[in-house]
Amino acid sequence: MNDTVCFRNIGQLVQVDTANKTPRLKILDKHALIVKNGRVEKVLKDSGLKSSNYSRVIDLKGKTVIPGLVDCHTHLIYAGERKDEMERRLDATSYMDILKSGDGILSTVKATREADGKSLLKTAKTRMKRMMALGTTAFEIKSGYGLDIETEKKILSVGNRLKKVLPVPVTLTYLGAHAIPEGSTKSQYFDFVMKNLPLFRNLADGVDIFCEEGVFSVKDLKRLFLQAKLVGFTQLRAHVEELSHQGGCAEAAKLGAVSCDHLEYANPKDIRAMKHGDTVAVLMPGVTFFLGGEKIPLVHSMLDAGITLALATDCNPGSSPTYNMQTVLNLACHLYRITPEQALVAATYGSAKALESHEKYGSLQPGQRADFLTLKTNDYRDLFYYFGENFVEQTFIQGQAVRIPKAPAIE
Ligand SMILES: [Zn+2]
Repeated sequence: MNDTVCFRNIGQLVQVDTANKTPRLKILDKHALIVKNGRVEKVLKDSGLKSSNYSRVIDLKGKTVIPGLVDCHTHLIYAGERKDEMERRLDATSYMDILKSGDGILSTVKATREADGKSLLKTAKTRMKRMMALGTTAFEIKSGYGLDIETEKKILSVGNRLKKVLPVPVTLTYLGAHAIPEGSTKSQYFDFVMKNLPLFRNLADGVDIFCEEGVFSVKDLKRLFLQAKLVGFTQLRAHVEELSHQGGCAEAAKLGAVSCDHLEYANPKDIRAMKHGDTVAVLMPGVTFFLGGEKIPLVHSMLDAGITLALATDCNPGSSPTYNMQTVLNLACHLYRITPEQALVAATYGSAKALESHEKYGSLQPGQRADFLTLKTNDYRDLFYYFGENFVEQTFIQGQAVRIPKAPAIE
């Protein structure tokens, strides 16, 4: 049976207009959103609506509606946390020094190897529900806390289970090349990742690599991407130019990466390569905030070059323990000095493009999934003005209000 729902009396309806070369917000006052079978059918003026045309009419009482937020870079399936490490870092030990001392990522690897699939599923599901309550309606999740076949498979299997039990789109990425496990040299471990790549083909949509001094090189990135293409992975992503400039961004863009992520040290040449490759720049200001980084990516040069920007939490226990894309939006504006419009376009359309899903969601345009948020304000810019607030009143997935306990516990 046709289920056509009219969400009427929307005070401010925010969509992303993708008809122009540079996508922009389209803001309509006093409109209604018509949702048919979970998709946006059309947008109409509120005055003169005929209630009898719809199976249900929901009065949104003048509230603001924005597209659901898309978190296109997370590591949210993990066990353990790293509060001790945070204290050490705040006491002047660097992130890379912590990694070299065997803590950092490797402590999460240890805890994740020890956890069973059931408990990983439970904590990841709780995290995602919390994120949905805070406004995220589509996710990317990476593996990378196993660094062995068994645990990497366990993480991706949990990811595939999450796809089934939650109503949101989930893109999965195999990040075997995340760190070098204890007991291996870099070249031993990297050869192991390359050899076993086919084992993960049916568990993930794409691959990723942490390209950084002392971890994986630009040469490794090239080898991985070429092999991943042969094996049949469709989405190539890379953590590049985060803590130093290595050249991974330009190489990844040249090899057809769908996104280059982090980019604090990306230079004008890298920006030209991303433009040429139509590669999305995924920026994560939460990491800059949490690690106390002073390096800000060349965001304005990226915008001037016409690159698509995306925003993500990088949700992980070491460098960005946040579940909140609203915080990311706020930080992006004020750390990068970009406008609320540029930040919101990046966290919706841009992040959806980083997941090759901008046709399916992210803009709240007719034909797209009706994933949207009602806000506790009559002006979407409050998301960027007040910080530390939760402005999401209700998250709708495919036109259905998501029933989420007020605040699922942090685990
Ligand atoms: Zn990451």
